Parts: sequence; C-alpha cells; structure tokens
Amino acid sequence: MGRPLAMTVELARYLLPRRSWPRRGRLFPMVLMLEPLEACNLRCAGCGRVREYAGVMDRRMPVEEALNATQLAGAPVVSVSGGEPLLHPQIEAIVEGLVAQGRWVFLCTNGLLLRESLLRFRPHKRLCFVVHLDGTARVHDDVTGLPGAHAEAVAAIAAARAGGFRVATNTTAFHGSDPADLHELFRTLAGLGVEGIMLSPGYAYEQVPERELFLKREEAVRAFREILDGGKFPLYDNPLFLDFLRGNVTYPCSAWAIPTYTVLGWRVPCYLIADRHTTDLGEILDPELWGRYGPGNDPRCAGCMLHAGFEPASVLDVLNHPWKLLRRRQ
Ligand code: SF4
Repeated sequence: MGRPLAMTVELARYLLPRRSWPRRGRLFPMVLMLEPLEACNLRCAGCGRVREYAGVMDRRMPVEEALNATQLAGAPVVSVSGGEPLLHPQIEAIVEGLVAQGRWVFLCTNGLLLRESLLRFRPHKRLCFVVHLDGTARVHDDVTGLPGAHAEAVAAIAAARAGGFRVATNTTAFHGSDPADLHELFRTLAGLGVEGIMLSPGYAYEQVPERELFLKREEAVRAFREILDGGKFPLYDNPLFLDFLRGNVTYPCSAWAIPTYTVLGWRVPCYLIADRHTTDLGEILDPELWGRYGPGNDPRCAGCMLHAGFEPASVLDVLNHPWKLLRRRQ
C-alpha cells in the first residue's frame, strides 16, 4: 500500500502552479515541521533537540498557536514532531485541528507511547503515524539506550495497523549503519504493512558532541548506495532524492520549503541549524537568506544531505522535468 491517491492529487494541485516560483525568487513552504514541544521520553545518541532546547523543555505549544502557524504557512503537509509529540497533553486536538484545516498530517513518534495513545485518535485518511526505527532490535535499542524500545515500536506499528491507522516509518542512517541490518528492518516493516519507509542521513546538529556519529558526505553516498541497491523496499522518498543520496545528482539546498516552527518560534534557517528563532516566517522565505546558507555558503552545510534540505529541490525537479522520472523507470 502506498500513500493515498487523494494526497498525491492535492499535492500536485498545490505544487504545479508554484513549480517555477523559486526561479523567479518567490519561495513557499511545501511541508511544515511543527514541534509543539521539545520534551522527549528518550535520550537518543545523536539527537540535538534535548540540548538545544534544554531551557524550554517544560513548554507545550497551545493548540491555537500550532494551528495559526500552520494556517500561516499554508503547506498541504504537516510533519508533527518534537520532542515526542505524544507527550503533549493536547496532541489529539492539534491533530484534529490540522485535519479540519485539510492538511495531510504525519505524526512522528518513537512509538513507545503509541499503543496506549491510539484511543486518543481516530483513523483518518489525512493522519499517518510515522514511527522512528534506526535498525533491528540490536541497533535500535543501542541508539535509543533503551532495551525493548524496538519491540515496543514494532508492537505499536502492528496495533496501529490493526486499528485501521495509516503507518509509515522513518530511519536515520548513522555512521557505521549496517546495510544488512537495515535490509532486515525494512523487510520486517514491509511485512507489517507500513505505507512507506522514509530514509535520511544522520543530522549533524551543531551542539552534538558525538560528531563522529555522523556520516560525512562521501561516507553517506557509499552507505546509501549499499542500502538502496540491496533490495526492493517500499521507500517513501522521491526517487530523484534517492538518486541524490546515491550521489548521482546534485541539488541546491531548498530548506526554505520545509520551515520548522517550535516553542521558540521559526528556526532560522532550517531543521538542522538554528542560528536564531523568529516570529516572522517571511524571513525564511526571503531568497536573500539563502545566499548565506547551503553548501558553498556556510561551512556547516558542507556535508549536509538532509531530506528537509534537499528533497524539495528534487520534487521541483520532477515537476519541471517529469521525463526524468519516466526515464529513470525504464
Ligand atoms: S544545507 Fe540547508 S538544510 Fe543543510 S544545514 Fe545547511 S541550510 Fe540547513
């Protein structure tokens, strides 16, 4: 099973008229990353949020603020993360409000609270749980530092599927990720009937001391080729973005298309780097900002292959040159 046809149709309706806007200096959000809290019930190796937002871990974004930010951004897709969103006492009201706005909602979770939280939600075509898993039990439990984390996440996926919910997964590839382990994970997830598997390189958060954890660009390309070419899996990412991960094409940073709204406001510039926060989304959609960020402009961006940074450019590439996709499938 793949993503709903209605979602593809609505995204096309939103994106097609805008596909040439960036060439003319007009930027727009495709996906909103909404972080209604930063608190989490895990302390995963490699996660910078718990350090970056240490002073505001007790903050919970009011429902109205979350819905206003979403309305302002206007993006058809909202990815709700954090922190662990299921710790937010009003997360179901936020999700309901987003669905009522006509958004496609991806609720990202580590899965630990999902089974007990299912009754807070009702299945809807616009709601998809995205469960984060970084490998089989051996790897995932090590990354999360919690024995049994993998088993609980898998049980939650099965329970959500049995309850009629849409479920996808997200996997971050770290330095030393074992392709064979990931292939085993992907086979398990496909067997559980997940809608799609999202794959992304490790995030080089500035404040993470374990820098050796993260893939450098060349290492990432080598690893992704092995991971992607090792079998047929229901991957969710745009095929041209997967070619970018394989090192076959290059794209400019297009993180303006996936702005992140947090309890401190909009991150400037992106999901990965927060040089500051602002109340004005227009700052992120200002082309001038992007002359200062991206590979070649900021040394911190040199090795970045983040999906939130480069997948939008691959989507625009498909919309402007659809034959690339057709040619790729031949
Ligand atoms: S390349 Fe783009 S997405 Fe990556 S860190 Fe730089 S600004 Fe952020």
